[in-house]
Formats: sequence, C-alpha cells, structure tokens
Amino acid sequence: MSKNKKYHIITYGCQMNEHDSEKLAGMLESLGYNNTEQLENADIILLNTCTIRENAELKVFGKLGQLKEYKRKNPDLIIGIGGCMMQLEEPVEEIYKKYRHVDLIFGTHNIHQVPELIQKIEKNRKRVVEVWDQEEGLIPDLPSQRESEYSAWISIIQGCNNFCTYCIVPYVRGRERSRPLEAIVNEAEKLAAEGVKEITLLGQNVNSYGNDLEEKIDFPLLLEELNKVEALKRIRFMTSHPRDFSHKLLMAIKNLTKVAEHIHLPIQSGSNKILKEMNRGYCREYYIKTVKEIQNKVPEAAISTDFIVGFPGESDEDFEQTLDLVKELRFDMAYTFIYSPRSGTPAARREDQIAEEVKKERLNRLMEIQNKISYEKNQKLIGKTQKILLTGPSNRDQEVYEGRTRSNKICFIDKRPDLIGEIVKVKIDSAKSWTLQGTVVE
Ligand code: SAM
Ligand code: SF4
Repeated sequence: MSKNKKYHIITYGCQMNEHDSEKLAGMLESLGYNNTEQLENADIILLNTCTIRENAELKVFGKLGQLKEYKRKNPDLIIGIGGCMMQLEEPVEEIYKKYRHVDLIFGTHNIHQVPELIQKIEKNRKRVVEVWDQEEGLIPDLPSQRESEYSAWISIIQGCNNFCTYCIVPYVRGRERSRPLEAIVNEAEKLAAEGVKEITLLGQNVNSYGNDLEEKIDFPLLLEELNKVEALKRIRFMTSHPRDFSHKLLMAIKNLTKVAEHIHLPIQSGSNKILKEMNRGYCREYYIKTVKEIQNKVPEAAISTDFIVGFPGESDEDFEQTLDLVKELRFDMAYTFIYSPRSGTPAARREDQIAEEVKKERLNRLMEIQNKISYEKNQKLIGKTQKILLTGPSNRDQEVYEGRTRSNKICFIDKRPDLIGEIVKVKIDSAKSWTLQGTVVE
C-alpha cells in the first residue's frame, strides 16, 4: 500500500472516458493513493485521452509538454497515459520516442492492469508500454471512485459495429460487447443501496444492447428490469443510434416511470447524400418520422442531437438541407462539430475535403440557429414546474445550487444544502439557451 501518496487524473472526451477515469481513480484508491486537485502535489498523473477529433489529440500533446516540468521537479513522479488515442500506433510511437518523461502507456482494453503496471514501475523504475488490440479473458468488475454521490454511469455495451465512415471509435474501442443483464442490474442495485438516485446507461449505440448475447434480451427489456430497482429514481441512457431506435423503446420510455424523457439521437447531417456517404444507415425522411413519433407519443421528451459540418463533398445545398431540418425539428439541444479527418477512416482518404474557412462558417451559421431554438424552447418552460435532482453547488458559484430536469436541462436554484440528493419541485423563473433558473416549490 502507498501511504499518503496522491494521484491526479486528467480526462478528455466523452462520458465513456469519464466513466473509465472513475474506475482508474477507484483502482488507485485501492492501492492507497488519494486524489489531489494540485498537479504539483501528485505522485501519479494519469491522462485518459480522446481521439475523436484532431483537436482532442492536440490538447493531449500540449498537456504532455507541460508535464515535463513537473517531472523535472519531481523525478519520482509517475506519468501515465491511456485511453482511445493509445489504441493507435502513431501517437504511441511518438509519445514513446519524443516524450521520455512518460512512464506508462496503456490502452482502453486493459485499464484493469493499471495497478499492476504502476507497481511494476514503482519497483523497477522502467518505462512500460502495454496496449491490447482487444479484450482478453474475463475482465473483472473494477472499483470506482464516483464524481457524484447521487448520479452514476453504468456501461452496458462496449465498442461499436457501425463503422460510420468518419469515425475512429470502432478502431479504438473494438466490436460491440454487451454486458450480461444480471451484471448490470446487480450494479444498479448496489449503486442504489449506496444512495445513487440516477443512473446513466452508456454505450456507443445502446439500442443494439443484447444483439451479441445468447439470451434473447434487448434494450427495452433491460430498461424494464432496471425500472424495478426500488431506490433508483431516474434512468438515463446514451447514445441512441437513429437506425435502431424502435417503437418498443419509445413505448418503454413512455411507460416506465423511472426512464427520463431525454433522447440523444445524433443525426449528423440533413442531406441524404451525405448520410449515405457517412454510412449512417438511415435517411432524412426516416429520421424526421422517428422524431415526430417521439414528439407525438412523449410530448414532454427533450431531443438532442449531434451534427458534423464539412464532411467531404458537403455542398452548400447539402448544408442548407441540414439547416432546414434543424428549423423543422427544433431540437432542444445540439452538439455541433467540424468534420475532422481521422487517419485510417474511409472519409479521411477522400480528396474532396472542405476548406477550413467554409467549415467554420457553416458551424457558426448552424450554431446561431440552434442557439436561438434552444433559447425559445427553454423560454416556454418559464412558469412551469419541473422536477430536478439537486446535486449540489454549481462549479462557478458555491451559493448557487444545480440539478437537472427529467429532460436533462441544467437548472439553478438558490443555495439549499438540506435538499441535496433529493428530487425537488422547482418553478422555472427564467431561461437561457443552455440553463434554467428556478425557485423551489414547497
Ligand atoms: N456513437 C455515437 C453516435 O453514433 O452518435 C456517438 C459517438 S462520438 C463519441 C460523438 C460524436 O462525435 C458523433 O456523434 C459525431 O457527431 C462526432 N464525431 C465523430 N467522429 C467525428 C469526426 N471525425 N469529426 C467530427 N466529429 C466527429
Ligand atoms: Fe462512431 Fe458511428 Fe459507432 Fe457512433 S455509431 S461510435 S459515430 S462509428
């Protein structure tokens, strides 16, 4: 056991990575390390990386550069790097050769080995590179040090089989592997017993949950089982692939009382030509029909989406079709990204790449329209009552408390320590594009 030693983890990317970092933290705690917010106090610094866009990688290299100074001041410091970027040969080689202050390189498939690898470094003081191409054998359930006392992530399916032509995920996270239903329900029960009120089920495509399992189970059935876990109050999930979003799932959202009314349904583009070239497996009309069915059957549901602008060959007309779709469907929220070529993916090899200025201009136009729609939709909530799970002080102001509505909107209220961890009824007083402000209704 390492007495009084401290760790600091820096996480890039999606919820999947945040969840992996909680496991890394849990494993380090079980080695006797404690968390520190100050890099200069850390005995171990771990970077959990993302490779979805080039920007994410640039940030990691920038941070690695800064960490050199910390290693110079404290030569015993262990610096480790893992996550999606480490599943690719090029960055691993570059880091191994040029960033000599990095002691440990590990991948997404062997995070359970991190304690053992760290102990090896502590003993031998030699650099270690251990990256697996795929999971091997039975991966043990790992301890987790959660960020929040009341909300928890549960991974239900790893990897992705879809191979959208722009996306690196299937190459770095491997093929789809669903966790057994029983293991997920057990984890939910354990979390609920620890005081967790809300779980978020994670997967690149939660709708294909169960396809690879021998038993005949699917995602709606999993939701049904989790809905029975008594102490749980809310169940969230992401991400839903539009192609696999079924009527059965919509009915589960409508009928299961704990399943929150928020659906993240990334469309990526409003042009059929681009959707086909992205290999998304649905067309614009199918997507619109799906959203209208959701709006019809579960009118209180919030729908969010992802867009990529500037995919190779995207013409002005293709982009206009995206804007038209945004105006027609009026999403509650959208994450908008500039297409970033990822080496090894089919789209990156295309010669008809779009100029950076055009991509930026399109992104700004799309964001401007979406921000206005999000603002207008939130304004409509003013005067209405919403139930929020109050999680505590907001990051920017300790006097302001925050929670999320069932539809996943952030809502601020005045300080109420007595209500932390409770589902609280709030009357919405004002609203911006991304946040609401309310007063507790006693
Ligand atoms: N599996 C989910 C899906 O299919 O919607 C999301 C996966 S990814 C972590 C999140 C988002 O990143 C995608 O929905 C897409 O909009 C965006 N993305 C993925 N690859 C990208 C790329 N090469 N350039 C820009 N954005 C990208
Ligand atoms: Fe990437 Fe497509 Fe899989 Fe989502 S569904 S992770 S965008 S390949």
